[in-house]
Amino acid sequence: VNLFFSTRSDEKPVDAAEAILKGIAPDGGLYTLRQFPLIPPQSVQNLDYRGLGSKILSSYLSGFTQEEIERSVSKAYAGKFDVPEIVPLVKAGNRYVLELFHGPTAAFKDAALSILPQLMSLAAKKTELEKDLVILVATSGDTGSSAMHAFADVKGTRALVFYPEKGISPIQKAQMTTMEASNTIACAIRGNFDDAQTGVKKIFSAMPGLSSANSINIGRLAPQIVYYYNAYLSLVRMGRIKMGEPVNFSVPTGNFGDILAGFMAKQSGLPIGTLICASNQNNVLHDFFQTGVYDRRREFHVSISPSMDILVSSNLERLIYWALGCDAGLTSQKMSSLSQNGAFSISEAQMAPIRGIFASEWVDERQTEKTIAQVFRETGYLLDPHTAVAWRAAELHEMHSGDRTVCVVLSTASPFKFPSSVLKAFDSSAILPEDASAQIDMLQNVTLKKAPQSILSVLGKKPRFTDVIDPSQMMAYVIDKEMKI
Ligand SMILES: *Cc1c(COP(=O)(O)O)cnc(C)c1O
Repeated sequence: VNLFFSTRSDEKPVDAAEAILKGIAPDGGLYTLRQFPLIPPQSVQNLDYRGLGSKILSSYLSGFTQEEIERSVSKAYAGKFDVPEIVPLVKAGNRYVLELFHGPTAAFKDAALSILPQLMSLAAKKTELEKDLVILVATSGDTGSSAMHAFADVKGTRALVFYPEKGISPIQKAQMTTMEASNTIACAIRGNFDDAQTGVKKIFSAMPGLSSANSINIGRLAPQIVYYYNAYLSLVRMGRIKMGEPVNFSVPTGNFGDILAGFMAKQSGLPIGTLICASNQNNVLHDFFQTGVYDRRREFHVSISPSMDILVSSNLERLIYWALGCDAGLTSQKMSSLSQNGAFSISEAQMAPIRGIFASEWVDERQTEKTIAQVFRETGYLLDPHTAVAWRAAELHEMHSGDRTVCVVLSTASPFKFPSSVLKAFDSSAILPEDASAQIDMLQNVTLKKAPQSILSVLGKKPRFTDVIDPSQMMAYVIDKEMKI
């Protein structure tokens, strides 16, 4: 069976059910596999999204039966996505865009979060957990509403979300603050995503027994492997590539979860050429890939791609652990250097295996806007700012390396989640209405595209949550609310 080790110690590996329930290991490390299950694409080529999901999740997640996984997968995607393909692969110009935003909150987090509650409830039953599951979430904008939707009214669970007061889009905020389910709460903090994530990690170490819906939870990553396989098999079915031919993926990256799922797919045998790590001006990952030095001591920029405004990309720890030959002691040292000094570095030799798989590019605000306008003009395809970063990164990668491998751009959000940024990309001097719903109307009129129903339905609702606290108050807030939700 597959056992999950903490990246920071060799003791007590756990099965997937326990790793999902705990979220983070007691020593602060992240649960990860030392060996990845082999899933040759030939062996799954006739499966649809659900079949693929069942196959991949049962290969990765020990401690669940095949039947439990199948039931969870069916429930997760039934009626929650607004297209039958769940994650369609769309051609735009001579590129392919993998649309991951057709779920209930119009961002890619739904692809994994829609199944997490099922896995957690099953895991809770197995460990004979008597009390309710309390799920804590730090969000840079999209995870929060996606988790609130996923856990809404799920018996035996409560979800509490912390989001940065500034930086997130008005629609992202409305999706959280208007959520009606009585077992969910959202609270703003005076700080950025890194402050929220640091606070949440501290609470996990101080109050064991809480669960995480962030991508530090392996139960978030495993379902994301599925869409890499699905995209690859779609290209084979279209006749665009032959089975076995490599494909590149360009991934708009923040906490390094989405792209790490691509890495796991590659370890399982999916013929991925290069994973292009695309950053905005918070380009700490790009610098790491170039130099082997990860240094968070820099200015934090609030950008038009807010879900990527992150300086401490948690899931990188799992890649570091792999590159260091699963040496928990060494990984531990690097991570304490990061938390104590704000930086760590790894040697050229240790970077070599990473460089064989990843490329990186970063894209500033002006280029992001230019890309949105240009791609729409030339292909009629409308990119959201996060996807635009990945699109431009794919172009830069091709320019810098001469690599001509077929490239899939991961599209992580609907452009209608960020109407003012997209409208300004078309015309920086345009005078925009204040109100998000008027902005959406304007974007629909300019592009002749339709906003997803899920976004339209939160507009105009009255917020239920208005609390704003300092990061230092997070622990007290959880203790206060844990009893009452
Ligand atoms: C979360 C998010 C990202 C970043 O994904 P990571 O897994 O954190 O790297 C990119 N784009 C959007 C729209 C997101 O919501």
